[in-house]
Amino acid sequence: MPESTAGDAAAKPIAYNSARFLTSASKVAECPTDEGSEVAFAGRSNAGKSSAINAITVNSKLARTSKTPGRTRLINFFTLNRPGCRLVDLPGYGYAKVAKDMQDDWQQHLDDYLSRRECLRGLVLVMDIRHPLQDFDRMMIEWCEHSGLPLMILATKADKLKSGQAKQAMLRIRKALEGLECVEHLIQFSALKKQGLDTARDALTGWLESEPHEITVAP
Ligand code: GDP
Repeated sequence: MPESTAGDAAAKPIAYNSARFLTSASKVAECPTDEGSEVAFAGRSNAGKSSAINAITVNSKLARTSKTPGRTRLINFFTLNRPGCRLVDLPGYGYAKVAKDMQDDWQQHLDDYLSRRECLRGLVLVMDIRHPLQDFDRMMIEWCEHSGLPLMILATKADKLKSGQAKQAMLRIRKALEGLECVEHLIQFSALKKQGLDTARDALTGWLESEPHEITVAP
């Protein structure tokens, strides 16, 4: 019987708690073979990216791998129970006060990954709901808009706001993103309160089972 692959409707459902660390890469050339489907997570340091990955995969230790010394600046890959499907933890932006040439280096690897990875189906941008749309976030959103890469925004740490305030914050974010075609999902999220997990998982599955998007290289 042929091995089931990404996009095989008859394959068993993707279970996010099956996520396991696969490998780290410091540049695109070191990434796993560019086939199957991948969804990458990006965010400013401290935005809550690791907590979001851990909550989605129900594995409190998973993204800790990405935080161990020596791995914070690497691209970390996680396999799932569906062959060929992977989650990818991109390095947190602004981790410590690194020298400008290191930031440039990081930016170059990120650019390379985003522009050259054909199996990339979408980008999850994790933002603190209390401090949304910072420069880095805007840069990533612009990149997705120009390159046609589908974007999911997790507005996380929603538990830190009262429900009315969270609702207002979501409205403001939605308004700021109006007219952008890349934004496919905007999800109020809390790793702590497990809010938005199923919505995020369903969206991830939709992407992982999707066909490749048309890549247009950003200017
Ligand atoms: P990363 O640097 O983006 O990976 O951020 P972390 O996931 O390490 O989170 C940074 C800090 O925010 C940690 O102290 C987390 O415990 C906290 N945090 C992350 N997500 C949430 C959340 O949903 N709610 C609350 N209250 N705190 C969170």
